[in-house]
Amino acid sequence: MEKYVYLFHEGNGDMKELLGGKGANLAEMTRIGLPVPNGFTITTQACNAYYESNKNIPTLVEKQTLEALSRLEEKMNKKLGDPKNPLLVSVRSGSVFSMPGMMDTILNLGMNDETVAGMAILTNNARFAYDSYRRFIQMFSDVVLEIDSYYFEQLLEETREQKGYSSDPELTSEDWQEVIKGYKEIVKKHTRKDFPQDPKEQLFLAIKAVFNSWNNQRAIVYRRLNKIPDHLGTAVNIQSMVFGNMGNDSGTGVAFTRNPSTGEPILYGEYLINAQGEDVVAGIRTPQPIATLKDEMPGVYQQFAETCHCLEQHYEEMQDIEFTVERGKLFILQTRNGKRTAQAAIRIAVDMVKEGILDRKTAILRVDPDQLNQLLHRRIDDRAERKVLAKGLPASPGAATGMVVFDADEAEQLGNEGKRVILARPETTPDDIHGIVASQGILTSRGGMTSHAAVVARGMGKACICGCEALKIDVRAKQFKVGEMVVNYGDVITIDGSSGEILLGEITMIDPELSPEFQLLLAWADQERKIEVRANADNPVDAKKAFEFGAGGIGLCRTEHMFMDLTRLPIVQKMIIAENHDERMEALEQLLPMQQGDFEGIFEAMQGNPVTIRLLDPPLHEFLPDKENLLVEVTKLQILDPQSEELKKKEKLLKKVRQLDEFNPMLGLRGCRLGMVHPEIYEMQAKAIFNAAVRLAEKGIEVKPEIMIPLVGHVNELKQMRQLVMEVANQVQISTGKTIHYTVGTMIEIPRAALTADQIAEEADFFSFGTNDLTQTTFGYSRDDAEGKFLQAYIETKVLPDNPFAVLDQEGVGKLVETGIKLGRITNPSLKTGICGEHGGEKSSIDFCYRTGLDYVSCSPYRVPLARLAAAQATIRHEKNEVFTTA
Ligand code: PEP
Ligand code: MG
Repeated sequence: MEKYVYLFHEGNGDMKELLGGKGANLAEMTRIGLPVPNGFTITTQACNAYYESNKNIPTLVEKQTLEALSRLEEKMNKKLGDPKNPLLVSVRSGSVFSMPGMMDTILNLGMNDETVAGMAILTNNARFAYDSYRRFIQMFSDVVLEIDSYYFEQLLEETREQKGYSSDPELTSEDWQEVIKGYKEIVKKHTRKDFPQDPKEQLFLAIKAVFNSWNNQRAIVYRRLNKIPDHLGTAVNIQSMVFGNMGNDSGTGVAFTRNPSTGEPILYGEYLINAQGEDVVAGIRTPQPIATLKDEMPGVYQQFAETCHCLEQHYEEMQDIEFTVERGKLFILQTRNGKRTAQAAIRIAVDMVKEGILDRKTAILRVDPDQLNQLLHRRIDDRAERKVLAKGLPASPGAATGMVVFDADEAEQLGNEGKRVILARPETTPDDIHGIVASQGILTSRGGMTSHAAVVARGMGKACICGCEALKIDVRAKQFKVGEMVVNYGDVITIDGSSGEILLGEITMIDPELSPEFQLLLAWADQERKIEVRANADNPVDAKKAFEFGAGGIGLCRTEHMFMDLTRLPIVQKMIIAENHDERMEALEQLLPMQQGDFEGIFEAMQGNPVTIRLLDPPLHEFLPDKENLLVEVTKLQILDPQSEELKKKEKLLKKVRQLDEFNPMLGLRGCRLGMVHPEIYEMQAKAIFNAAVRLAEKGIEVKPEIMIPLVGHVNELKQMRQLVMEVANQVQISTGKTIHYTVGTMIEIPRAALTADQIAEEADFFSFGTNDLTQTTFGYSRDDAEGKFLQAYIETKVLPDNPFAVLDQEGVGKLVETGIKLGRITNPSLKTGICGEHGGEKSSIDFCYRTGLDYVSCSPYRVPLARLAAAQATIRHEKNEVFTTA
C-alpha cells in the first residue's frame, strides 16, 4: 500500500523528492532533536494522485491524513475543533525545489466560532484569539475560497478609521469580533455559503488549495524561469501552530546563517515582536535587524545562534531559517539552503573550505556559473557625481538604470519593447513576477531584506532596493515623492543595490573586476578542469579583457568586425563595388595595414597564447547600405537633381546592391565561398596576419596564429583555401627571412562538413565547431527569423525544451559534433577541436563539450570566468559519476 502521509519523525532530509524540500527539512530537524512544532507531510505523490483522480483527494490519501491527524492530536494532547482545547495547524506547500513565495500558505486552521472562544479562555487573551481568527478567515478566504483580500482589508481600514485608530494593535477584542462579523458577511456574499465551521472540512479544502496552487499562474511562470519540471507536484505540510503574536514575549523572524548579499559569516536577518509568520515576509511592517534580539531576548538569541550553527554544520550549507518565539520559547519552523547573490555564493564557498566544512571540489560545485554574470556586470563608477534622492535597504547588489514604472504589466510591456525600466512598488507580491523579470531593477518603499522583492531579485541577480520609507509611492498617480521632489512615470533613475542609494538620472558605470575570493575559486577551478577556455574577441581591448579574465587564447576572431569600423567601411565598400581587378586591389592595399595593426594588437594582448583568426565570413551586402533606403534616395535624386554626380554614385551602388541581393543570404555567397570567388580578399587577410606575426616576432613576442576557414561544406573548398593561405605564408617567409609557426583549420558549421569530417580533417590542423550556424543549418532555422517569429512559442508550448541557439541541442546538433570529432580523429589523430558558437559560454553545453572530448570552448570575454568554473564542474561531476542537471 502506498504511503502518502509521513509524520515528521518518520522522514528524513534525503526524502526531498517525496516530502518536498520543506517537509524533508522539517523531518530532518525533528530527527536531530531541534525544537520543531509537531506535524506531518502529505507527499508529492499524493499531489500527483490528486491530479490523476481529476482533482479529487483519493480515499487512501484522506484516510492516511486522518490517521496522521489523530497521532498529532495525541502528541499535542489537543484536538482539532475541540472547543476547550483546540489544535490549530498551519497548512503549507512544499515542492522539491524551493519556490519562494510562489505557493500559498494557510495559518491558524481549525479556528471557528467555538474554538475561538476556547482559545480566548485558554490563553487568557481574548484579543489574541479573535485577531487569530480574523487572520484565518482572511487567509483562508483568499487562498481557498478565492475572495480577493482587498474586501477584507477595506473593511479593516474602515473599522480603523471609524474608531480613530492608526494601527492594528489598537483594536480590542470586541473590535475584532465586530470585524469577524463583517468578514463572514463578505464570505457569504461572495460564495453564497457560510464560512466553513467544520475544521476537518477546512483542512481538506486547504489541502486541495495547496495542490491546486501547484498550477497557479505564478507557480507556472516560476517553474518555467527556473526549469523546474511540471510533473514533480507539491507536498503539503501540516504543522501544529505556534504563536509569535501572543504578546511582547513572543515574535517571529527569518534569518540567514551568513549574509546573503555579501557572504560575510555573521547571522543576518530580521524579526518582529508580537507578530505572526507572514508579517515578516509579506513586508507590511518593516522588521528589526536580528542583532537587536540579543538585547531584547538574550536567552532566546543565544539558543537561536547555537541552533543556526548546528544547522549549518549539519547541512554543510548556508541556511535560511524561519523561527517563532512563543512566550519566550524558541521554535524552528523551517530551514532551507539560503538563496544568495553570486558575490555571497563565492565568499561562502571559499570561507567554508577555509573553515574545514567543505573540500575544494564541493566548493566549486556550490557556485552556479550562471549567477556569475551578476559580478561580471558593470557597476556605478565611484568617481561619478551622485545626486542621491533617498536611501533604502541594499537588498540585491549591482546597479541599474531605467525609466520608472509603477505597474508590473507596464514593466513587462516596456521591457519587451527593449526599454530599460525600474519597477517601483510599495511592495511586490508573487503576482508581479512577470514585471520583475522584465525590469533592470526593483525598488520598494516597504519590506525588509527578506521581503518578496528582495528574495526574488537576489535569485535573479537583479539590483534591488527595499524598504525605502522616505519614498512616498503613489501607484495610481504614477509617481513617487521624496520630500518635495516628485519623480514621475518615465523619469530615468539609477539604483545602486549595493549601497541602497536611489539616484536621479543615468550615472556612469565601470567595468567589473574579480574579487580575491573569486580569483581563488577560479584558480581552484583551473586546477580541476581538463578543457581549455578561450575567448571570442575581435579587437585588442576585448582580447586584453579576455586575458585578464583568464582566457587561454582566442578561439574566434571575427575579422569582419574590423571592417565595420566607420573609417574603414568606405574602403570596404570601394573594394566591393570595384569594377576591375586594379580598383579592387587598390582598396585591399589600403585595408591591409589596418588589419595588420589589429592583429598586432591582439597578438600582443594574448602574450604567446594561440589566436584563431577567421577569414571573412558574412555576405558582402552586409557592408553596403540597405537596398530600400538606397532606392528611396535614388528616386528622390532622380526627381530633384537628375544630373548630379551624387545620383550617378548612388545608382552605381544600387546596381551593386541588387547584384549582391540574395534570397537566402545565410545560405548564399558567404564564408569560404567568398574566398573561392574573390581569393584576393583572403590573400590580403592572410598577408596581414603573417606580417603582424613577423613584426611581433621581431619584438621578441611569441605568436601562434591559427588561420580558420569558415563555412566549409566540401573538402575541396578547404583544400583550395588552405593552399592559398600557405602560399601567402611562404611569400611572407621568403621576403622577410623569418619562419612563422602557424596552423590552418576550419569551422565545422554545415552538417555535410561534420558528416565528411574524415575527409576534411586531412586538410585541417584543427576543427572549430561553429554551433551558431550548425544549429541554423541542422534545424533549417534562420536564427533571426526563428527567434522573431516562432521560437518563443515553441519553447512555451514545450515543442523544444530550450532555445537551441542558447543551449546546445545535444541530441541533434550535438550528434553532429560527436560525429565530426570521431571521424576527424580517424584520419588526423592530432586534430585539435574546439567550439566557438555562443554555446561555448553556456554551462550545460560546456558539460557536453567536456564529455565529448573537445579540447577547448571559446566564448565572449565576459563569460570566460563562468566557462572556467563550468568546465571544472563538468570534470568534478564526471569523477563523481554525476550527470548535469539544471536545478
Ligand atoms: C558560428 O556559426 O557558430 C560562429 C561562431 O560563427 P558566426 O556566429 O560568426 O556565424
Ligand atoms: Mg558561423
